[in-house]
Amino acid sequence: MRKPWQIYNLPRPKSEASKGPLSLVYYEIYSGIVVPKKAFVVRFDGWSFHSLTKKLKFKEPFDKLFVNTLAKTTQQLFRFFNPDLGYIFSDEINLLFLKQTSFRRIEKIDSVFAALASSVFYSSLKKKFKEVPPVAFDCRVIPIGTKNIFKYFAWRQAEAFRNFNNAYARYALMKGGMTARGAAKKLAGVKTKELRKLIEQSGIDLKKLPPWQERGILIYWKYFKKIGYNPIKKRQVVTTRRKPIINWKPPNFNSLEGKKFFKMLIK
Ligand SMILES: [Mg+2]
Repeated sequence: MRKPWQIYNLPRPKSEASKGPLSLVYYEIYSGIVVPKKAFVVRFDGWSFHSLTKKLKFKEPFDKLFVNTLAKTTQQLFRFFNPDLGYIFSDEINLLFLKQTSFRRIEKIDSVFAALASSVFYSSLKKKFKEVPPVAFDCRVIPIGTKNIFKYFAWRQAEAFRNFNNAYARYALMKGGMTARGAAKKLAGVKTKELRKLIEQSGIDLKKLPPWQERGILIYWKYFKKIGYNPIKKRQVVTTRRKPIINWKPPNFNSLEGKKFFKMLIK
């Protein structure tokens, strides 16, 4: 008899659940899927964050406290999972892993990473607000391989740019008295150039907005030397420490500077 996972053409399940006559462990058909041995991205997305924005009265179209919380959450994820790069915009977090991690199984990564992001984000908000509704991130694993790293992040940054223009255009229309539905209808299919014209006409100077809104935020390890004292050997010792730092002004990934940054990272 073919096993359930064989029927669906999936790899043999990996599970710590008990086997034996009572066990239905062979129905855990997704548990054997692992990340291939290549560079991969884990992308998180805020689940139903529209209602969170409304409930906590975050500023439209961008809120510094919200994005700060997202950045802090990402720093925590760095400490837990040790990725090589983080990139965030809107309600999205991307973590790049150049090497293999101790986590291999997709079900494990998707569930543990999403859960941890959600709980860290929630407790961080809880320090600022009395009432915080439950929050959730979903996440997915994308095995892009080294050759697609630059392309992947250029794509996400283009999405950040698109999101930025849409958000401000929507904001401009609604400030002018339009309903959310009306604004969405009016903006459907409108080209970036037109969106930017519309925004500027409403009195917003696009050049004066903080760069992170347009380009997103990078997070990466910064290494630094720390001078300490070894009391046993009775001498000074230099150790290397690292911490995840936030770059609020990332380059345009498609520029020379951007390409250099990714070259350095992959090397
Ligand atoms: Mg979302």
